[in-house]
Amino acid sequence: MKTNRTFTMIKPDAVANGHIGAILDHITKAGFKIVALKYTALSAQKAGEFYAVHSERGFYADLVSFMSSGPIVAAILEKDNAIADFRTLIGATDPSKADKGTIRNLFAKSIEANAVHGSDSDENAEIEGSFFFSAFEKF
Ligand code: UDP
Repeated sequence: MKTNRTFTMIKPDAVANGHIGAILDHITKAGFKIVALKYTALSAQKAGEFYAVHSERGFYADLVSFMSSGPIVAAILEKDNAIADFRTLIGATDPSKADKGTIRNLFAKSIEANAVHGSDSDENAEIEGSFFFSAFEKF
């Protein structure tokens, strides 16, 4: 398993608000290389599978509904220390608590509609990347 990769989604709020270009620019300027990229959408079933780890949480149903409400952009990113550096770049889950200049501080409106996803471990990055991309779509 490659440990210098992370997985991200630009979530439906940020896509709907026209932030795809600005967010990808932010990501690449921070030194991440895009090694897979896809404009797509999650069905409610697929969103439920992606966030299955949260299925017992009170916000799960709303989250699944939000994540299947419109198109998303999925990407695999490469950089040394990718997981930790990307979590720093996106900021706290709740944008009101995200550091100034982070992607969630700049582009997110609420704890649910928080603009971007970032994997929390090497193992999850691999699982999440493979959820969206086949081997021949990753470079
Ligand atoms: N989320 C939510 N309400 C909460 C906490 C999280 O709607 O109280 C959503 C939010 O979109 C978040 C996702 O669930 O990004 C996954 O939550 P997690 O705690 O894994 O946060 P993340 O790793 O995305 O910062």
